[in-house]
Amino acid sequence: MGSYAKAVMVGYICRLCSEQKKKVIHLYSSKAQSLKLLEKIKLLPITVQKYDNLPKTICETCIERLDTQYKLIQRIRKNNIIQRSHRIFHSNGRCPVECPLHGTVDPSWSDDSEPSGSTS
Ligand SMILES: [Zn+2]
Ligand SMILES: [Zn+2]
Repeated sequence: MGSYAKAVMVGYICRLCSEQKKKVIHLYSSKAQSLKLLEKIKLLPITVQKYDNLPKTICETCIERLDTQYKLIQRIRKNNIIQRSHRIFHSNGRCPVECPLHGTVDPSWSDDSEPSGSTS
């Protein structure tokens, strides 16, 4: 149990960039928890499991990258919600001033002539 972690002598291999780094953070440490590293890694196209036989350490560079990516995704998600609610609740141009998208031009709204020409 846990012997493989000591197999790397020079440094620890970063799970994300595969580089050997002296300064890494273990994914299941309390530091990683406070940085929400596991949560951020879930956004990546990889799966990290506690007992998979792969490195559980991440270097500082990747942590920074993860953080940037995490913020970007949070931002995209938030804006997706805004845009959806804008579309659902403020259709036909009835967008209140409070809406973050108030005043923005949505080309799909102003275009009344549908290409399919569906008559209701
Ligand atoms: Zn790395
Ligand atoms: Zn709106």
